[in-house]
Amino acid sequence: EKTVGVLDVQGAVREHLLALKTLGVKAVSVKRPEDFDGLDGLIIPGGESTAIGRLIREQGLEDRLRAFHNEGKGIFGTCAGLILCSTDHSHKTNDLRLGFIDMDVERNGFGRQVASFEMPLKFEGIDQEVEAVFIRAPYIQSVGPGVKVLASVDDKIVAAEHENVLVTAHHPELTEDYAVLNYFLDKFVDGSEFNA
Ligand code: GLN
Repeated sequence: EKTVGVLDVQGAVREHLLALKTLGVKAVSVKRPEDFDGLDGLIIPGGESTAIGRLIREQGLEDRLRAFHNEGKGIFGTCAGLILCSTDHSHKTNDLRLGFIDMDVERNGFGRQVASFEMPLKFEGIDQEVEAVFIRAPYIQSVGPGVKVLASVDDKIVAAEHENVLVTAHHPELTEDYAVLNYFLDKFVDGSEFNA
């Protein structure tokens, strides 16, 4: 049985834990460095990226998170988690950027008027369109070499993957359409070529 952790410092933690349980995966909350032990994959949830980044630093989780990435374990960053996983070369704050995927992001990129919306989304590698919920979502402005784009809304990239890291701008845990979570579990947790 595979065990997937959900980084539990701020944001949509409960929803991810519930979704994982529904999918028959052992799901655990990750608050301390030792909580990473024995995990086969990790979800960095949506929430507020500045707050999550600050808490990652304050709780002493950054080194363990980077080591987990270097071990090739599957990591899925959703929404604020996408921002945290990016290199985001142009960002000017001291906010944490883990740099797991070479990409530039635009925070709150869909604007104030359309802070939240839900739509069917074509997603590379998934046969049916997925029901995607966006909440003050970022988008990906550009990706570096080797990064595979998986989904876009108009000309805005909203999902990508590179090696052992998957990111989506939407919240895959908030509808009953768990296709993207299943995609993560199948490709990045069960069948990962990086997860030695
Ligand atoms: N707007 C948030 C941020 O910039 C992300 C929103 C979300 O995770 N739903 O951190």
